[in-house]
Amino acid sequence: MEMEVNGGGGLYSSDEDSQHKDKKKKQREICSSGCERPKSVCLCPYLPPSPIPTATQILILLHPHELRHKLSTAPLLPKCLLNSHTLLGRRLRPGSSPLLDSLLLSPPHLRPPALFLFPGTSSHPSVDLHHWAASHHDHPPHNLVLIVFDGTWNHAREMVSASLPFVSEFATRVSLSFDEQVEGASVFDSELVLRKEPFLGCVSTIEAVARALRVLERDGVEIEERLISVLRAMARFQASNFKPLKPRVKLGKKEKEMKMLCEESSQLL
Ligand SMILES: [Zn+2]
Repeated sequence: MEMEVNGGGGLYSSDEDSQHKDKKKKQREICSSGCERPKSVCLCPYLPPSPIPTATQILILLHPHELRHKLSTAPLLPKCLLNSHTLLGRRLRPGSSPLLDSLLLSPPHLRPPALFLFPGTSSHPSVDLHHWAASHHDHPPHNLVLIVFDGTWNHAREMVSASLPFVSEFATRVSLSFDEQVEGASVFDSELVLRKEPFLGCVSTIEAVARALRVLERDGVEIEERLISVLRAMARFQASNFKPLKPRVKLGKKEKEMKMLCEESSQLL
């Protein structure tokens, strides 16, 4: 038993103290067998036994601030998907990635299709991913490149606008439509909300990739289910390890109102 001497010469057991320290140490210990998360919230049992191969190449631009977020889902993607690559930075430009450079330099008729996932605006509209996929005759598209921006809403918007001059040379802006009736509030509000995203449609990166691959891959439904099960496990850990998040505010459709809440929300993150 560990003992310590106090100033008055009496002996006091520090068992409780060392138990507390052990618990703290365990919480800080990082899993070295795959997920690289703290051992107390290890996700290894939920990850696929080996990363799933996809026809789509997935490229994630991760905002440097996201590295500090323990709820970031981006680090899990390369462990789940064989063809996913993460770049750390605030914008995509020539030299950021050999894959993107090769797209830029290919003659348009020989260039594999490329998409970047982000909701459109009036000046930069997006194509619904389902519509895009339906209009492609070779489905699933061969050698498709999917670019995803990972950050808070404001950071992602900044990254997209800084990357536009480059990516719009070879990639189409696509967005995921959300059918509230079918897959809306109940699942994504209660079970899978990991971050205080401001409104339906702002989803975690792994979820956005899962939903896009459902549309783009031949085995899309299974791939989506596999990725969502990792997210569910993460959400369960969050529910038992962190204090609960405030329920998401149900918003009206006015764009101005949404924008205001987006900005407030990202300040909180
Ligand atoms: Zn682990």
